Amino acid sequence: MPKNENGTIECLNDKNHKMIKGESSYMVPSFKKPDNVGEPLLLEVTKGFAYDIHYCEECGYMELYDYKDEDE
Ligand SMILES: [Zn+2]
Repeated sequence: MPKNENGTIECLNDKNHKMIKGESSYMVPSFKKPDNVGEPLLLEVTKGFAYDIHYCEECGYMELYDYKDEDE
């Protein structure tokens, strides 16, 4: 869950609600642990987790899925 047996993403609150894929994709960048305590985190902007958002128009339920290139 909450993908149904046909692989369609369903709203967890009501399977009759329509889930919509957001127009943009997003990314949570990763960071490298600093060598010494107290030093700032080292942001690695080319690494991280890329995802798409699917949301329910009616109740606001939201899910994140791995980003997939639509051309693949
Ligand atoms: Zn819903």
